[in-house]
Amino acid sequence: MRLIISVLLLPSLIAAAGPDWPKVEQHAVDVLQEYVRIRSINPPANTSETAKLLAREFAAVGLTAKLYESAPNGRTNLIVRLPGKDRTLRPLLLLNHMDVVPVDPSRWKQDPFGAQIENGMLWGRGSLDMKSTAIQQLTAMIQLKQLGVVPPRDIVFLSNCDEESDGSMGAGWMIEHHWDELNPEFVLDEGGIGSRDLYSPGKLVFGVSVGDKQVLWIKLRATGTSGHASQPIADNANDILFRAIAKAKEFPKSDKPNLVVEQMRRQLGDFAPNKFMNAVQQNTISLTTLRSGVGDPPKVNVIPSIAEATLDCRLLPGQSAEEFLSDIKARINDPHITYELLSHPDDPGPSRTDTSLFHAIETAIHKQHPEALVVPVIIPYGTDTQKFRKRGAVGYGVMPMIVDAATLATMHSDSEHIPLAEFRTGLHIYFDILTGTW
Ligand SMILES: [Zn+2]
Repeated sequence: MRLIISVLLLPSLIAAAGPDWPKVEQHAVDVLQEYVRIRSINPPANTSETAKLLAREFAAVGLTAKLYESAPNGRTNLIVRLPGKDRTLRPLLLLNHMDVVPVDPSRWKQDPFGAQIENGMLWGRGSLDMKSTAIQQLTAMIQLKQLGVVPPRDIVFLSNCDEESDGSMGAGWMIEHHWDELNPEFVLDEGGIGSRDLYSPGKLVFGVSVGDKQVLWIKLRATGTSGHASQPIADNANDILFRAIAKAKEFPKSDKPNLVVEQMRRQLGDFAPNKFMNAVQQNTISLTTLRSGVGDPPKVNVIPSIAEATLDCRLLPGQSAEEFLSDIKARINDPHITYELLSHPDDPGPSRTDTSLFHAIETAIHKQHPEALVVPVIIPYGTDTQKFRKRGAVGYGVMPMIVDAATLATMHSDSEHIPLAEFRTGLHIYFDILTGTW
């Protein structure tokens, strides 16, 4: 009798086994619009309203969010935990940030906080970076809870308040004060994305970031002799600085092969000729500030005794920052130049890819896009994941949408937007990642 009943129940169990996708997709779009409309601009990184919205969504399925204020005036971080089968395993962390960079509304054609949908695009600050990914993570986790799917290990959802500065009040603060609630084995965050033109011309590639470049900021200061500009002198601080900058930028390509870049080459063949791929495959130096002159406004007829410049250097994982700096010093080789380090890179190296989670990501992407190449990549900018890699976690950056290079470049710009159909497909990919085996 018991056997017969379970056989009879089977069809309805199967029907209930998957999400009601049309309804789930529409709700996710609605929540994303609501989320983008909240002005969680950093500074001041007041994320109390965004945290309330996310907490409300989790509460609707019986998941309780814990809110942590890291600083006054609403700097709020949020944690939600979904218990897994084996509570002894370290969790999978779904990492995201609620803050967004500021806007110049006069430069926007759309309302930057309108979340307007037009011609299949959703416009607004944070739509790409990274409110869409956060809602994909949230939706997938909520579906697991609703369908009674118990993940192999705990899933922890963490939304931070200040990734867009240095993360010290967000991920950094949570790591420092609430590590016992985190301690992840795996981290999924923003980073890599799908594209047909960003990585390699004409190939559908999903980059899964396994490492961020190291940030090395150097201030160069040239000291010379001041004097009347009518009589040029050899130790003009500006001339000394200019020569030093030129020499600093003449750096040779690293002869040490980078394992991630080598693998990218094997999988992709030709790299697309754009600034993203240029930065991904090598160490880079950008001259970002120059400061000199006497008086305000600076006098044209005075040779100053001091001139300063900052170099924003980005190094591949595995490159020694000390070595890079001492090479710069050796090339400049001028006692009139002094060096100040404005950042102190601490390189955890890239995350390995021979993991069950990487395999689950690959499988989930291939289910939607069988022809896609899923490729571990390095990303040129920094993310909060790096803080967790330093603590021994394996971290991957996955934004499960296909965008072209031009759309990706709208991140932080005055026309930030995402293709809505890609957001919807990404909901499926994220759900499939979370229902995978890891
Ligand atoms: Zn971001």
